[in-house]
Amino acid sequence: MDKQRKRLVEFAQAAKGFDGYNMLKLILFAAGAKPATFVQLKISPENLDEKAHFEKHLKAGRVPFLVSRPKAYEEIVAIKGNAVKWRILGTWFGYDLFDGNRSFDNFRKYLALVLYDYPACCITHYIKEHDLKFLRKNYTHYAYYKHLHSVERKYPLVMHTPCSTKCRATGRMNAEYARTIRNSAPKFWKSFTNVKKQKADVIVGSESELLQDVVYNIRSTAPVFPAKDGHEYNLITMKPIAGHYYMISHLTKKSIEKGTVLPAAINMKFDYADVKLGKPKKVIKNLHHERKFVIP
Ligand SMILES: [Zn+2]
Repeated sequence: MDKQRKRLVEFAQAAKGFDGYNMLKLILFAAGAKPATFVQLKISPENLDEKAHFEKHLKAGRVPFLVSRPKAYEEIVAIKGNAVKWRILGTWFGYDLFDGNRSFDNFRKYLALVLYDYPACCITHYIKEHDLKFLRKNYTHYAYYKHLHSVERKYPLVMHTPCSTKCRATGRMNAEYARTIRNSAPKFWKSFTNVKKQKADVIVGSESELLQDVVYNIRSTAPVFPAKDGHEYNLITMKPIAGHYYMISHLTKKSIEKGTVLPAAINMKFDYADVKLGKPKKVIKNLHHERKFVIP
């Protein structure tokens, strides 16, 4: 890695505007393990200078990039009564980064490269999963979400959805990414792989549902799997953990009413969390989200 790329890795680890997943992508790109990537940089009153700082490093490293228009991002700031309160906390910018050494000069080549970067078996599988018949033949509602949870846990460093937990190409890629991060950003690797244990009350928010209109070429909002043999719930921590309210995907065979508050033992690692729920404490009826659009 040359000196400028090393500086970019250092910047990625120190920047406040990247979450773990975006840090991971930026470090892999800067270290040369990914030929192109897309990262989101959040800008709030706390890190106003980071956009200019980031672009300075990109230019010094001769990294061609495209930057998006600013977009607002919001976060949960409180849960009061039956209202989950959201506020706009700042702006984010999306960056498409290209490996300058390979001199990609347009977006079409970049897109081809993104696909090129992913294993062919996983691309084929992804396309198949956009077919109602294939989905219904191969999965139940629970099995579909179980597949997503399993591949995410087995291969936490890759950016695509692996075709299976036995995908060899993905396994090689995940191992190569782990080596790269360990060598080029040991500090980030330590915190990203560290299991963060928390005890907190959580409230059951929405439930995931795969709708037919996300399946290619079908214009129905009916569920792909009408029979529910399990549930993927969105759990929200009742109190902030390290300054943030967390939303956690939780897959279970049990049915839990929306608004139920339960104690939870939460193990966070990489970009996911495993949760053990205790006995329900209460149910908050009519749980809803309140959004205020105030520009900070
Ligand atoms: Zn695969």
